[in-house]
Amino acid sequence: EDEANLEERPPVITIMGHVDHGKTSLLDRIRTSKVADKEAGGITQHVGAYQVEKNGKKITFVDTPGHEAFTEMRSRGAQATDIVIIVVAADDGVMPQTKEAISHTKAAGVPLIVAINKMDKESANPDNVKAQLSEIGVMAADWGGEYEFVPVSAHTGMGIDDLLETILLQAEVMELKANPNRKAKAVVVESSLEKGFGPVANVIIKNGTLHVGDNVIVGKTYGRIKAIKLDDGSNAKEIGPSTPAAIVGLNEVPGAGDELIVMDTDKEVRELAEKRAEYDRAKALSKSTKASLDDLSALIAEGQLKSLPVIIKADVQGSLEAIKGSLEKLRNEEVKVNIIHEGVGGVTESDLTLADASEHSVVLGFNVRPTGAVKKKAKELGIEIRTYTIIYDLLDDVKALLGGLMS
Ligand code: GDP
Ligand code: MG
Repeated sequence: EDEANLEERPPVITIMGHVDHGKTSLLDRIRTSKVADKEAGGITQHVGAYQVEKNGKKITFVDTPGHEAFTEMRSRGAQATDIVIIVVAADDGVMPQTKEAISHTKAAGVPLIVAINKMDKESANPDNVKAQLSEIGVMAADWGGEYEFVPVSAHTGMGIDDLLETILLQAEVMELKANPNRKAKAVVVESSLEKGFGPVANVIIKNGTLHVGDNVIVGKTYGRIKAIKLDDGSNAKEIGPSTPAAIVGLNEVPGAGDELIVMDTDKEVRELAEKRAEYDRAKALSKSTKASLDDLSALIAEGQLKSLPVIIKADVQGSLEAIKGSLEKLRNEEVKVNIIHEGVGGVTESDLTLADASEHSVVLGFNVRPTGAVKKKAKELGIEIRTYTIIYDLLDDVKALLGGLMS
């Protein structure tokens, strides 16, 4: 990209965290501060994301997708998020989905800010949250770590300004830029069929400017943009980088996570859509191509794989720590184990989504078994789940894998 064409763009934020820790409330509170800023009477259109302004700078918030959807978007190469806010309730502390959300965020390489929510509660204990998070590698900046923690209350509005300012500071460091003068690229965050409109895609512009009349393709769907609706319900003729909007004009409902691109003519988008449909049909005929453990060990033996991503699930914290400790020590000269997620409890669909997003990853279960639904999904995705009841068996398998000797 030509440096001269690049301009600063607003950061795109996703809020994740454990259920009931206040993600929706926080999004609503931030949005309300915006509605209050606007003249009365503005209706808020649901476009899957919205923008607020702080100190003359815009920030885009995506409706919280859940960390599975977040990673699924990433595995399709359609990452829209620049910064993740991890919400932790001050009275409840770190919970399983908090850890999952952090693992998904780190695996995506996206910076995170912690919002300690529900500070208005008598039982709020922010130091406990800091201590718990420091144990899993998220150390607060005021404790000497590298992560910003902001105490907030979605109920009273306390700390919301701080949170927005912290986001803007982080965004400044990241120097987020885009070129408004090129053809648009966008990512679909939600989609639906709407009465009177037909297929509607809620998108966030990643680069360029999208105009009414543009010929677009989104996955296998295509069309000419008929209308662009903004989050305040108004219509726009064109929108630039990081702007969220609902677009009308596609022939079918696209998938969330699909990427939108603009092409010169309607013939081009139609032909590309047909090619993609053809490709999918061909792929469906061939078998799943994910690597089995044997393939993995071959890749390692050939020196093509330098780090083995693993997800470990165990029945109790004690065994988890023991396995982790041993795995971290395990390495041959070239390959090391990279633990992308660990947790106490059974193998979940969220684990599979995470495994699927990293190439050549392995899911290791200790004294836990996947449910039928999880097994089925693993099979569909071509992910191998290995379960063990003896730690040495688990370590032996991984050792053999690293040695490229596994059979
Ligand atoms: P989500 O599941 O993470 O989206 O959480 P919600 O936003 O739905 O909130 C879960 C519950 O916590 C609801 O009953 C909220 O009213 C409550 N809640 C959310 N934020 C706060 C807060 O700052 N203070 C208090 N006291 N309660 C909150
Ligand atoms: Mg919610």
